[in-house]
Amino acid sequence: MKLTEKQIEQVDRQVKRLIASGSYYGEVYKKAGVTGITSQEDFEKIPFSDKNDLRNSYPLGIMACDETEIVRIHSSSGTTGTPVIIPYTAKDVDDWAVMFARCYETAGITNKDRIQITPGYGLWTAGIGFQAGCEKLGAMAVPMGPGNTEKQLKMMIDLETTVLTATSSYALLLAEEIQKRGLKDQIKLKKGVFGSERWSDTMRKRIHEELGIELYDIYGLTEIYGPGIGITCEHNDGIHYWDDYVYIEIIDPVTGEPVPDGEEGEIVITTLVKEGAPLLRFRTHDLSRIIPGTCKCGSKYPRIDVIKGRSDDMFKVRGVNMFPSQVEELLKKIPGTSSEYSITIAHDDDNNKDVMLLTVEGDGKYDFNEMSKAIHDLFKSLIGMTPKVIVVPIGTLPRSEKKTKRVIDYRNL
Ligand code: ZN
Repeated sequence: MKLTEKQIEQVDRQVKRLIASGSYYGEVYKKAGVTGITSQEDFEKIPFSDKNDLRNSYPLGIMACDETEIVRIHSSSGTTGTPVIIPYTAKDVDDWAVMFARCYETAGITNKDRIQITPGYGLWTAGIGFQAGCEKLGAMAVPMGPGNTEKQLKMMIDLETTVLTATSSYALLLAEEIQKRGLKDQIKLKKGVFGSERWSDTMRKRIHEELGIELYDIYGLTEIYGPGIGITCEHNDGIHYWDDYVYIEIIDPVTGEPVPDGEEGEIVITTLVKEGAPLLRFRTHDLSRIIPGTCKCGSKYPRIDVIKGRSDDMFKVRGVNMFPSQVEELLKKIPGTSSEYSITIAHDDDNNKDVMLLTVEGDGKYDFNEMSKAIHDLFKSLIGMTPKVIVVPIGTLPRSEKKTKRVIDYRNL
């Protein structure tokens, strides 16, 4: 999808703003000879930005305005070392709330709803984003934060909350608790807004069935405001994103070249109006594609597909590259598997080879030994390598209040 005339002007303004402020990226662009843009071609010459830049310019090197204009910072730690700090102006904070309220509206949520917010509050962008959007919409926020399942369920029942916002892992944990305690009749939930990790169709189906609610996928990342830059609609056919605030291109993660609409690649985001820390051509490492055409809902906002995974999620065992999403696709074909699985990889020193253990939860309707054999055989024919497979009863694998870690690799520890 090409930039519109208006978006070209907006990016041009961002480049000039970054240079004038003498910020980290201003210096990068000066060195690269980028002074502004007037075309798509110019735009594609702007160097990519990524999380390493943000670490290099820690703590406030990417700030592109006077410090007196900054009203808040957020931070994302990631998995390694130095955290990343993102400064926000009052307008940035308000723009984010406007986008987030639009997400709720796209999910059919109104000011009559009561929204239970379970993502964490604090340095990271989750809880406060869900809260600000809720208040902008005029709905009632129940700001729980994560954990304390006992209290979550009490509030859910006593306050008759209608919307649950959570990571999909925590939503599953709550759904299982509600079923275990036989509370389903007392729950008034109608919708769930889930984000921050990729979730399989099987997991979606389980949460949908156990809670009896409609599910929406929200998208976003701390570096680009936070969650709320896009969401699925009732047709569940991709994520609508707000192209008046962000421009999305899809690139080949290896060559860095843009791919045609419809083709899969890495999501690269440009903020069009951000003031505190504008980011141009930011590499997210999230894998998706532009969905061409108009959605059945008639929305004018373009769509990307739900996130397929991250380019850095890929793992390699005995020369074979795999993504967790491939394993999920494979497990979907085996009757009796639940949504939960875990992959452990280690090096067998005695035999000098890598070994992979796949643990899968089975619902108990099929024989566990037969299931492991079927998974083993399907792995061999579809992926070309054979892990050791164990099927265990539902509830055996650990549940998470945040994101579930699917792949544990002991080879490089
Ligand atoms: Zn739609």
